Amino acid sequence: MSTTRTEIAIIGGGVIGNSIAYHLARQGQSVLVIERAAIASEPAASWASAGGVRRQGRHPAEAQLASEAIQRWPTLSEELAADLRYRQGGQLLLAESDSEAAQIAAYVQQQHAIGFSDVRLVNRSEAHELVPGLNPQVIAGSYSPTDGQASPPHTTRAFAQAAQRLGATYFTNTAALSLLTHNSRVTGVRTTQGDIAARHIILAAGAWSDELALTAGLRLPIHTLALQMLLSTPAQPGILQPVIGALSRKLSLKQLDDGSFFIGGGWPGDVSPDRRSCTMRPASISSNWSTASELLPAVAHQRIARSWCGLEAQSIDDIPFIGHAPGLDGLTLALGFSGHGFALAPAVGRAVAALINGQPATELDALTPARIAHFKS
Ligand SMILES: Cc1cc2nc3c(=O)[nH]c(=O)nc-3n(C[C@H](O)[C@H](O)[C@H](O)COP(=O)(O)OP(=O)(O)OC[C@H]3O[C@@H](n4cnc5c(N)ncnc54)[C@H](O)[C@@H]3O)c2cc1C
Repeated sequence: MSTTRTEIAIIGGGVIGNSIAYHLARQGQSVLVIERAAIASEPAASWASAGGVRRQGRHPAEAQLASEAIQRWPTLSEELAADLRYRQGGQLLLAESDSEAAQIAAYVQQQHAIGFSDVRLVNRSEAHELVPGLNPQVIAGSYSPTDGQASPPHTTRAFAQAAQRLGATYFTNTAALSLLTHNSRVTGVRTTQGDIAARHIILAAGAWSDELALTAGLRLPIHTLALQMLLSTPAQPGILQPVIGALSRKLSLKQLDDGSFFIGGGWPGDVSPDRRSCTMRPASISSNWSTASELLPAVAHQRIARSWCGLEAQSIDDIPFIGHAPGLDGLTLALGFSGHGFALAPAVGRAVAALINGQPATELDALTPARIAHFKS
């Protein structure tokens, strides 16, 4: 098979790879995306995701990217010329006891300290005004009005389509088999459609990134998580505006435009031995459903219409690795998003494109892959 040449090859057509492709193509760069399956298909994280667009509760290392992303989301549908099902309904983190109310007051202070000054402490009556029908035991909350929700598959495909309109090439149904190296430089990618030579290679292959990194001798401190989601039968639309979370419970609860409740929060499934699929845990399904029903009793009037799981790359310190790979020229990493990468995607794409262009990207400093060295024994 002949060798294809491109300036930049991106491995992985998830929301992260496609956002990077879009931002690079927008700058007139020659980009080729290699995606093993179709865009946004099972069990990729960007297919499975809950679609929470949340800045509240971010690790300080992600704060700048999260603020940038939150500013981009309201106009992203227009920018990408696609309906992303985005809604800026806010995010409300709930407290259910006096001790939790004290913790949530401190939490709001922490949000202000990292620059999220619009996050505010709400008392019992404000919380119940924001979400009529909440369980009466909710006594306070932290409300972030600029947060919201969007559809991960729609957004992932929209970035890919916008990148293609700007000239990016997509090799779908094409698996990257290994990284090609010369001395300590990554020079290309071996794929099921032949070799691809590129000046820059960006590894954005989600939960499977470690397999590819290892072919160039780089051991990534990530592991694979299976995360579950539930979708209810439709209730009356408009019951729930913000996305709900709870201080001491695993929950993300939102209502979609058709009225169905979309329920997650990090409940685990099981990863198959070959890491190509996952299975649901019945105990996670029932606990997730009962948590949602307890906090918002309207959920209990519905039943589960669909459930699924997806695979996510969990990094050792819960924040992603974004930037040049240590010890390997020509390779940039954008992976390890640890269950919260969807919301960041617009900013990650912009920042990685800047980095590849040699522009400053100080917002990535705290996420540098150079920290991988600290995790080696
Ligand atoms: C159930 C669930 C709920 C979530 N909820 C939220 C949320 O509410 N808010 C939020 O911000 N984040 C959330 N996340 C996290 C978020 O969805 C992910 O961080 C994000 O989608 C990661 O995108 P990605 O592009 O890195 O990975 P992926 O979407 O997994 O994309 C990686 C792509 O690489 C491809 N690939 C892998 N190996 C190869 C290869 N060898 N060759 C070619 N292609 C390859 C895969 O097929 C896949 O398409 C959730 C995740 C899950 C699973």
